[in-house]
Amino acid sequence: MPAWIRPTLVQAVAVVAVALAAGFGLRFALTGSDGNGAGAPAPGVSPTAVAATALAGRTIVLDPGHNGGNSRAATAISRPVPAGGFDKECDTVGAETDGGYPEHAFTFDLAQRAAVILRSRGARVVLTRPDDDGVGPCVDERARIGNGAAAAAVVSIHADGGPAEGRGFHVIAPALSPDRTNAVILAPSSRLAGTLRSAFGRATGQPLADYLGKEGMTIRSDLGGLNLSRVPKVFLECGNMRNRTDAAEIIDPAWRARAASGLADGVTAFLLGEGSPSAAPR
Ligand SMILES: [Zn+2]
Repeated sequence: MPAWIRPTLVQAVAVVAVALAAGFGLRFALTGSDGNGAGAPAPGVSPTAVAATALAGRTIVLDPGHNGGNSRAATAISRPVPAGGFDKECDTVGAETDGGYPEHAFTFDLAQRAAVILRSRGARVVLTRPDDDGVGPCVDERARIGNGAAAAAVVSIHADGGPAEGRGFHVIAPALSPDRTNAVILAPSSRLAGTLRSAFGRATGQPLADYLGKEGMTIRSDLGGLNLSRVPKVFLECGNMRNRTDAAEIIDPAWRARAASGLADGVTAFLLGEGSPSAAPR
């Protein structure tokens, strides 16, 4: 092979080896076995086997972004609400694929799938909306639901509407809010961002976003949902709906089953104490 290829190839092999080792490590830590266990929530998926009591007593809030009724309620969702030292619109319509699959439907589907897996591990799971044809809730209310549930972890589920040539997923971790009230969640949220990034990438094969952030992460202080949270919380942007390759995955129910498995594994790893609080770049 040409000399210029060799370093790339060596790096690729090393990356694959590290990824395999990391994957085995998580599965072994979670299960003590190779992880192909019972309780699969969807056909064709083998989510990591975790004891049915592993998350007993823990509450997880899943926050599917946007809502199916938002597009019919422009006035209601554009009203300003407190967002952590400033006001921001209540909610937004969200993105969609070029083929017309809307982000709100994707996020609700993924939340339901992940909830099944997490409940099978003993967790109490609360969704911030009960269906996909309502309006909102506003971002401040979404944060209150997590706080009110005393959630051990909250994941706000989204898919991006980025530039068509940009691919991949990323996790958004909180920065200190402008009103400086969310300091207590920064370290645990950073650790959650790290376990979620690892597990989601492993389950889906989805690359880290190549069009923003750093190593699949961004740290933001402009999101009311993170600024107002008093419990560990991150946003998961599962892919770019405007990118043809990502969109083909997002519309595929089998891919969404893998995505749900990755989401659930990332939250599980966090709740079992894995990961590092310095996962997110600062
Ligand atoms: Zn969104």
